[in-house]
Amino acid sequence: MLESLRTLPKVQLHVHLEGTISPELLLALARRHGIDLKERAGLAPADLYRFKDFQEFLYLFRDVCQALKEPDDYGVLAASYARAAAAQGVCYAEVFISPSVWTWFHRQIDVRAVVEAIHDAFESERRRSGFEARLIADVTRNFGPARALKTITLVEGLMDLGIIGIGLGGDERNYPARDFGDAFAKARSVGLHTVAHAGEAQAAWSIREALEIGAERIGHGCAAADDAEVTALLAERNVCVEACPTSNALTGAWRAGEPHPLLSLDRAGVPIAIDSDDPALFSTTLLTEYARVAEMAGLDSVRRFARNAVVHSFAAGETKRELLARIDRHAASKGAGERGRVENQ
Ligand SMILES: [Zn+2]
Repeated sequence: MLESLRTLPKVQLHVHLEGTISPELLLALARRHGIDLKERAGLAPADLYRFKDFQEFLYLFRDVCQALKEPDDYGVLAASYARAAAAQGVCYAEVFISPSVWTWFHRQIDVRAVVEAIHDAFESERRRSGFEARLIADVTRNFGPARALKTITLVEGLMDLGIIGIGLGGDERNYPARDFGDAFAKARSVGLHTVAHAGEAQAAWSIREALEIGAERIGHGCAAADDAEVTALLAERNVCVEACPTSNALTGAWRAGEPHPLLSLDRAGVPIAIDSDDPALFSTTLLTEYARVAEMAGLDSVRRFARNAVVHSFAAGETKRELLARIDRHAASKGAGERGRVENQ
């Protein structure tokens, strides 16, 4: 099954570039920049990303952000992400980056040079394998609405490097989406798409607020499954929910022992896409997430979710038509293979 999922043409809508860093690259960058990984000292690369609670995960994320210091570091990271994504059958990706986090950890960092390095790495993978990627700049709720407006001004000047939208991630409880209405409106006024993480750490109200300020897609959205009205709203407005099962299990957004919320949302008509969030930090891959969902929902549903990711991406119409045709051809070839096996029995 894994091979069939690998060759299925895929679109990624919810992956954070910083969260794709391998333990080996993190160690190499930490050494290069003389960063002491403190409590991680002495751990083998395979154990570097073990964490027992969300606080420990945040410490890990801090270490990652400290190690990613120079534009070239991001170029190396983007190249390694793009190559791994292409090898897993990803044809097109909209990748989150967090410039306001970069400048928080490194006051002097040249954001344009960083985005250029990422853009160049993606471009070189496009020439090698045909993989294409765009960027979504997360404004990070924790810095507040005023800073979000500044980040959008910064991002507006980087649209020539493939930034096509802004995201709203971070602390849902203390920085609710309703505070970012002006930021989303400003982003839309300059031609940027708007997406939001919501219903991951807070209840369905957080998803409703994200929809009210105009989020075009919802990251995680797990809490919608507890609220029939919000579920109906997502279905009615045809807003895609990006489901990341391993991440949801590790952060507690998906309660252990219960069916994943994506199943009931799908039954209610909410478009579901599958993704990996911070795959390296969560010790997963996009293929693993596809396999996990195939186990819970079946292969036909996974193909449907793969189509949803294409339809709800911000790719050009022509790119979408071509990707949907490739998914159809994949389904037809697999169907023929399966029928052939039955006839030969
Ligand atoms: Zn995320």
